[in-house]
Amino acid sequence: MTTIALALQAVKERIQACAKAAGRTPHEIQLVAVSKGFAPCKIEEAYRAGQTSFGENRAQEGLEKIHALKHLSLDWHFIGPIQSNKTRLVAEHFSWVHTIERSKIAERLSLARSNGQAPLQVCIQVNISGEGSKSGVSPGDLLPLAKFVQTLPRLRLRGLMAIPQLTADFDLQRRQFRQLRELKAALAVEGISLDTLSMGMSHDLESAIWEGATMLRVGTAIFGDRKSTKDSWQ
Ligand SMILES: *Cc1c(COP(=O)(O)O)cnc(C)c1O
Repeated sequence: MTTIALALQAVKERIQACAKAAGRTPHEIQLVAVSKGFAPCKIEEAYRAGQTSFGENRAQEGLEKIHALKHLSLDWHFIGPIQSNKTRLVAEHFSWVHTIERSKIAERLSLARSNGQAPLQVCIQVNISGEGSKSGVSPGDLLPLAKFVQTLPRLRLRGLMAIPQLTADFDLQRRQFRQLRELKAALAVEGISLDTLSMGMSHDLESAIWEGATMLRVGTAIFGDRKSTKDSWQ
């Protein structure tokens, strides 16, 4: 087995063990392999090991890989901040966007998504850490944005996403993820039922699983450290 195949296997074992402990079925937890910073050959290696969903956080970098790997049937997730001049690229080439935080960008994505494609699957990014990551809507602005996104014909609102404040404190990780789960429950009370909680990365995926994550975005634990320049994209 290759290094990436072994790492992928180890991540799947973590997911299985934690899901079992938390009384959840691993099948309801999807793994998105975050390939930002890594070359197409590394993505292909993960694909040969059975991985089909990949996440990229820069439109241009993602697009180059999508083209390089178009002979494979892969599912691309956009997980970075979206500039308005990149909405067309993202809408045309990705099947998921996890980082909706402004109505204007959501509207542009919907306009750019062609009728020949399935609707773009989206999550609204919520800023649950307060001071930490500045990205995402504040919890107070979530409901109006969710209502607006639901009216857009070429987008399908699937869930919520968050990047919590970085901490090794398991309880604090869980408290932050719990907030996202509670926000999803609050939307359901308003008649907006969502099926996706995109939360949990390499270092905190267990906390996320305990709090109900349905989509994990894992990079380092699969591909290795992005700071080691040897296999990096540039
Ligand atoms: C880079 C990134 C990840 C993956 O982080 P790792 O710590 O490498 O697992 C997940 N989500 C987002 C939004 C990212 O930018």
